[in-house]
Amino acid sequence: MRSGCGGFIRILGGLWRRLVHERRCSFCAAPVVPAALAVTRDFIPICASCLARLEAGPRPAAVCPRCGEVTAPVGGSSPLCGGCLTEPPPWEALYFYGFYHGYLRQLLLQVKFGRALHQAEALGRLLAAQPRLLEAAGSWDCLAPIPLHLARLRERGFNQSALLAAPLARRLELPLRQRLLRRVVDSARQSGLSRAQRQSNTSGIFWADPDVRGRRILLLDDVMTTGATLRSAAACLTRAGAAGVGVAVLGRTAGRNWRV
Ligand SMILES: [Zn+2]
Ligand SMILES: [Zn+2]
Repeated sequence: MRSGCGGFIRILGGLWRRLVHERRCSFCAAPVVPAALAVTRDFIPICASCLARLEAGPRPAAVCPRCGEVTAPVGGSSPLCGGCLTEPPPWEALYFYGFYHGYLRQLLLQVKFGRALHQAEALGRLLAAQPRLLEAAGSWDCLAPIPLHLARLRERGFNQSALLAAPLARRLELPLRQRLLRRVVDSARQSGLSRAQRQSNTSGIFWADPDVRGRRILLLDDVMTTGATLRSAAACLTRAGAAGVGVAVLGRTAGRNWRV
């Protein structure tokens, strides 16, 4: 009975989205005209102008599949960048939508500080539409958003990574696991700290549920800057026995080889 009721509510929610919200751009509210009810699950309600603004950022031809760094266009059979060949990050793969810059940055800040639900929904679906991520979806057991510390969660009232993770989990058909990781140390705010300070500031700030043992976990965060938080989370999951860790983010900041 309960699952039947849940299914009915999901169908109503889907209809509500299709009939009301998906007729307007999630970012600027300009009318978007999908073919009435023939809105497929791949449809993302974004107008052409917003999409062009999002895609105006740098789109390098080849990036390292493990860290997102632009790979040098010289020889070698490995797609990995030099940094990952010598000192790989504690995850298998990095999937990201775009460069954390311009319109994407603006939208992600709106989600982070304004609980912009429609924007979060559309951004999550944009990330889910990335071919590399779609193809790899079956290799992960669940999706875990990077948690906020309880004090930050109480202060802000929501976790922006969880808002972005919900549409991604639906599209990739992965269970959304919000309690596999807990942020046990309320690390000082990151802005204003040097790279080295951030690294040391984020070592050992997470606790992993023993249930992670043997699972392949895809972590989700809104932005990857130095990667320190994601490194700490991935290392924590691996120590707790996770069988594999991947990382998905909406925006990645410039790397050493990026040209803006
Ligand atoms: Zn728009
Ligand atoms: Zn790399």
